[in-house]
Amino acid sequence: MLSYRKGKGMPHFRQIPEILKLMNRKESIRNIGIVAHIDHGKTTMTDSLLVEAGLLPPQIAGIARALDYLEEEQKRGITIKTANVSFLHLMDGESYVINLVDTPGHVDFTGKVSRALRAIDGVVVVVDAVEEVMAQTETVTRQALEESVKPVLFINKVDRLIGELKLSEEEIQNKFTRIINDFNNLVEIYGDPEFRNKWKANPLRDAVVFGSALHKWGFTVSKAKQKGIKFADIIDAYKNAKFQTIAKQLPLYDAVLDMVAKNIPNPLEAQKYRVPKIWRGNLNSDIGRAMLNCDDDGPLVICVTNVQIDPKGGAIATGRVFSGSVKNGDRVYLTGAAKECSVEQVSIYMGSFREAVAEVTSGNIVALKGIDLARAGETIVDVEHKDDMTAFGSMKYISTPVVTVAVEPKKPKDLPKLFDALNRLLVEDPNLKITIDNKSGEHLLSGMGELHLETAVSFLRKYAEGLELSTSAPTVSYRESVTSKGETVMAKSLNKQNTFWFQVEPLESDELESIRRDFEKNAWAEDENQNVLINYCQTRSLDEIKELIIAGFRWACNSGPLCEEPLRNVKAKLINAEIGENPESVEPEQVTRTVSRAIFGSFLTAKPVLLEPLYKIEISVPTQFMGECTNILAHRRGKIFATEQRNALTIIKGYIPVSETLGLTAKMRSATSGRAFWQCTFDRWEKMPEKLGLEVIEQIRRKRGLPPEIPKPEKFVE
Ligand code: GDP
Repeated sequence: MLSYRKGKGMPHFRQIPEILKLMNRKESIRNIGIVAHIDHGKTTMTDSLLVEAGLLPPQIAGIARALDYLEEEQKRGITIKTANVSFLHLMDGESYVINLVDTPGHVDFTGKVSRALRAIDGVVVVVDAVEEVMAQTETVTRQALEESVKPVLFINKVDRLIGELKLSEEEIQNKFTRIINDFNNLVEIYGDPEFRNKWKANPLRDAVVFGSALHKWGFTVSKAKQKGIKFADIIDAYKNAKFQTIAKQLPLYDAVLDMVAKNIPNPLEAQKYRVPKIWRGNLNSDIGRAMLNCDDDGPLVICVTNVQIDPKGGAIATGRVFSGSVKNGDRVYLTGAAKECSVEQVSIYMGSFREAVAEVTSGNIVALKGIDLARAGETIVDVEHKDDMTAFGSMKYISTPVVTVAVEPKKPKDLPKLFDALNRLLVEDPNLKITIDNKSGEHLLSGMGELHLETAVSFLRKYAEGLELSTSAPTVSYRESVTSKGETVMAKSLNKQNTFWFQVEPLESDELESIRRDFEKNAWAEDENQNVLINYCQTRSLDEIKELIIAGFRWACNSGPLCEEPLRNVKAKLINAEIGENPESVEPEQVTRTVSRAIFGSFLTAKPVLLEPLYKIEISVPTQFMGECTNILAHRRGKIFATEQRNALTIIKGYIPVSETLGLTAKMRSATSGRAFWQCTFDRWEKMPEKLGLEVIEQIRRKRGLPPEIPKPEKFVE
């Protein structure tokens, strides 16, 4: 076994030549990730695997949290950045190489989880035996299943059931059964019909590990049998304070890596069903066949899942090689950036270190230097095949950026520093959005929650040394919508040559699909906020200015008449149009402005409302503090839809407006002495109560320097 050489700084990777050899034997490769609800023990478990790989000295595992190598992560105790590692594992006389792709566990960063899922074929889902299956367990397992990534189960913190909760063997067994059933229920609901039954976690097939990451023991059913250890022996070991012997007899890494080697498909098997699922190109083409067969001799195809800026080495793109192989100096083409470039260095990951290698073949995870234009989600192909390549589709995100802060350098001369740092941040985290406020010139940074932004801002400070930043308090995004059919409203251009009649109405949720099918006919445009533009006007000459009308519609959708927030779920119908004969009368601005005025005019007659973002919240709290939590929710317009009892904990599930969660952390902490833990995920846009909506509109209007009153429809007509 490998050792960590104390005092040498870098771990010693004696295994690398063997790992490289196995990377060419597809049957021996397993690409996996570890996912969990926060605090269920993902980091502790990963560390105990790293000790095994010689990447962490045993005495600091669990303290150093090697994959959380960035200070920020150490400080907050949540995993933000992805790091990866390859292990060698021996099972029944066979060697396996297990490529572990680190996936972030916190909900604010789930976009990253779904990108990492592209690279892997299986995930170990860590579930805390005390808390059982929680909201985030469900989210991450669902995401994996949606990308056809097979989940297996690690039931962690079993020591607590024995030592702390003092449950009987039967009670523990019941808990295990419930966790496995809950987990399999997720597979039943979200799994592909083809795999629903095959992928259910069966302890008898060693697809479940029971153990304690903290105490470094774990077992699959076969392993325990093989070693002749019964659960009663483990309980006894705890009674006699001898759990270290269990860790020697049943080391956790052995159980987990056995489970992975036995249950997770190798890339040869996995790419057969995953490629058709995640790639939309022609499966009968050379590229398609090579990817399906994970062919080292096929065209090079890499899907980039993560890009990080290495202060010493420029951008490092991490990705999965789906076919072909990649070497230093290869000329490659980036389909997204539409640029050619050369690979400067090929390496594999060893925790926070990279090990330069000559070549990485299909079915493996690779880190590439020199591909500076690559972003997460980019497709890389060798230059000979650049015209034949269909890019990987966009990744599914389940979160929406709904909270914003303004960031400004304290000294204006530091603006270029801020730009550089913002650019780096955007490369690394595509879930952040940066916009510039037209009026104030402020840089607005939007993310998925208060914590996501706090973290982003601290990265900004770290990336731009000496940059003094001032940040505003976080604000919430809103949307403007309508609740009834508006009047048909006419607007004339300033030169009186062009007239448009528009009618606005709410877009029902089930309508969008049928409109999409109809797209060729009269549905002209759709935007990211589910607004659609539909043409009911028969005027022939309209074709020439169709693009201008669409631009006017988009302009209106970006910034509505209530308080300049984007529109949502609005159907704008072009009822009629009269266009000037003289081509000069059709100036672009005349058309776009007039279109948006007509849309606004009708919008304001259609019972407009303000929509606010709503989180689903799940709180886990010792039962004695349940009252405090429900009180806090009630005071913050929260609605509880379920409560569940799990041992000494109560799980409260509900909805809460995002605006009401600003500052929630401090409030919850003081009310529950820091004993409550909760997760928020964006759920939907919800109509605001009328009076409150009007107050918010007025506040936003004042902040934006607009007159406090909402304009009358007539204002837009002339
Ligand atoms: P993560 O958020 O999923 O990465 O969770 P961590 O690995 O940071 O663990 C959260 C907390 O649970 C830490 O305080 C760990 O020490 C503790 N923990 C993790 N695994 C175990 C375990 O097996 N038994 C016990 N008793 N505590 C554990």
